[in-house]
Amino acid sequence: MSAAVMRVDAVRKRFGGLVAVNDVSFTLGAGEVLGVVGPNGAGKSTLFDLVSGVRRPDAGTVHVGERDISGLPAHRVARVGLARTFQKLRPLAGLSVTDNVMVGAYCQTRRKARARSIAAECVEAVGLTHKANEDADRLSTGQRKRLEVARALATGPRILLLDEITAGVDPSGVPLLIELIHKLARMDLSIVVIEHRMRVILDVSHRLLAMHLGTVIAEGDPATVMRDPTVIERYLGR
Ligand code: ADP
Ligand code: MG
Repeated sequence: MSAAVMRVDAVRKRFGGLVAVNDVSFTLGAGEVLGVVGPNGAGKSTLFDLVSGVRRPDAGTVHVGERDISGLPAHRVARVGLARTFQKLRPLAGLSVTDNVMVGAYCQTRRKARARSIAAECVEAVGLTHKANEDADRLSTGQRKRLEVARALATGPRILLLDEITAGVDPSGVPLLIELIHKLARMDLSIVVIEHRMRVILDVSHRLLAMHLGTVIAEGDPATVMRDPTVIERYLGR
């Protein structure tokens, strides 16, 4: 087995009386695409928050390679090569697509010219070159999702966490996002994808993690996980 690029051990997060993430553990292999599924409220986005340094876990550890990044703030986590997108989009209003992506690039460089060239590459990688000078507010939902991916890419990650990049996107825009995930995987990134659309998750994932009420209820080969009776009951509500 190839060495894990990331190892998450028993991370936990409580919000008042609610344990949103309850001792979740998983590993991510080099070049792997790991899918995370589960109903709304399962704790998927909070898990990303714990891994990416947006929130501190109450317990548990996160390792990237040999490095323990548990509890590091997001900007430090970005510097060890871990980037994420957010389920709730937040393009910087009044900035062009390129300027939005340059914000990510400044994680790698202080030089404006270098940041601009990194941004151009990332904008190109997500297929938004024709919108590079457009105000980010004017993009469609699918284009904004791709902008989020470009901004994450511009930080120069080895590990990328994608939180529901097809949610709210018109069905006709979904194949482009599936193709983008495949392309990112070919760029030697190790990827964790939270995704609601079955056809997307089964198309892109090498392995699946199914969550319910903060815990992992099944893990393994995507087809097997989706046939698991507990997953069918919890996830599909029957
Ligand atoms: P998912 O992404 O799987 O839909 P979330 O991680 O967003 O789930 O949420 C998991 C649970 O934690 C939900 O019950 C949600 O209401 C709760 N939660 C998330 N963020 C907060 C917060 N900041 N304060 C209180 N509860 C929260
Ligand atoms: Mg979520």
